[in-house]
Amino acid sequence: MKPCRVSWCTEPASGWGRHCDRHKAHDRRHGHPEQIAITKTMLAPYEKLVEGVKARNAASPAWVQLGAIWAEVVAEAKAEVDQFRRGGAMNKVSVMASKEIVRIGEEAEPWEVVRAALATAWMEADQPRLFRSDDAFRVQLCRRVRALVERNAGIWYDASGKRRRHYKELPRQVAVLIGHRLAVAFGPSGVALWRKEADKAEERKMRQARLTEALEELK
Ligand SMILES: [Zn+2]
Repeated sequence: MKPCRVSWCTEPASGWGRHCDRHKAHDRRHGHPEQIAITKTMLAPYEKLVEGVKARNAASPAWVQLGAIWAEVVAEAKAEVDQFRRGGAMNKVSVMASKEIVRIGEEAEPWEVVRAALATAWMEADQPRLFRSDDAFRVQLCRRVRALVERNAGIWYDASGKRRRHYKELPRQVAVLIGHRLAVAFGPSGVALWRKEADKAEERKMRQARLTEALEELK
């Protein structure tokens, strides 16, 4: 019996696979057998940073442009779904991704989608080790954006009485593709926001170093 590929896992690999059942399921849900779920709480500080930049630059055309990018992602998805409905033979994964994007476009506040995507890209630039692979990043990005339209999903209580929400899983490939489209649309802007903030922190540090030096020179 082969052990699960996850080094600390004591379960046997299932079937011909490389991972145990639990890690296989985790890979399907999270994009990597060992990817931690990026929660709303974990993303919150980055969403706050994005809001901060927006508040300080309320008149910037960037926000309208980002909104337009999202509208374009939705419009492209809608065009694909329409073409599929007219009987076009198409890639099933891509159509499923487009249907989900159309649904998100209809149900979510556009700015909340943009903000979640920017914040996740910012988080990845800031803490790259939180994400185990490109797929894992894309799936987490997809999950954070999809969570915006899961609010009305069924609520249930687990054995310990903890409140849980039904979260309809998408096939892994579909989640990866949605995350990919979001990353193409918003990744560069999220990274640019992170870099700007990192530069400012670096500048503050240098200013402090120069001041410390000047103070040391005082007679
Ligand atoms: Zn395992």
